[in-house]
Amino acid sequence: MTQALSLCVFCGARTGTRPALVEAARRLGRCIGEGGSTLVFGGGRVGLMGELARATLAAGGHVAGFIPEHLARIEVADESLPELHIVSDMHSRKLGMFERAQAFCVLPGGLGTLDETFEILTWRQLGLHDKPMVLLNLEGYWDPLLALVDQVIDQGFAPPENRRLFSVVETPEAVIPTLVTLLARTPPTPAAPGHDARALG
Ligand code: AMP
Repeated sequence: MTQALSLCVFCGARTGTRPALVEAARRLGRCIGEGGSTLVFGGGRVGLMGELARATLAAGGHVAGFIPEHLARIEVADESLPELHIVSDMHSRKLGMFERAQAFCVLPGGLGTLDETFEILTWRQLGLHDKPMVLLNLEGYWDPLLALVDQVIDQGFAPPENRRLFSVVETPEAVIPTLVTLLARTPPTPAAPGHDARALG
């Protein structure tokens, strides 16, 4: 049996236009639930995040949602979740999800997903944490993002080692085994003295 972990997933508050991506979110939820892992996510019923959370719960997983008060209606906060944190603002949501998770996964999503992803990556770039992240590149959804990161590095705006800030997998079933392997390699990084993630939010 794979090791259980507390996995934060960033993904769309919409379902997008491709049914295969919705199905992949459900498959990831099944992997999380069947492996006894915890899903940490945005707390809403809508979009890929809602599909993912329902599939995780149906497969017997634990789910922890973080949603700001002002989005509780728009993103339809799922009051039935075993663990729902209603927080004051977006920064508290991101910090709460960060603290609750051992590792991160990015599914297809929009600008909110990109924002959440890059905040975690830039905190890691600054050495503020060493929690691994995988991008689930379903049907090439993230190819343009990977090309952009390559361009940033090739043109000297980031060091080549930034390519190692995240890993890329192609299937939902590869997410947890990849993260478990990465976690086994990563010694826990103590927070830098005086570090307060909120200062970066
Ligand atoms: P999207 O990818 O745009 O569908 O958004 C995915 C999730 O990210 C939604 O739950 C949004 O509320 C959330 N989100 C959007 N913008 C931000 C932000 N600046 N900080 C944190 N979460 C955000």
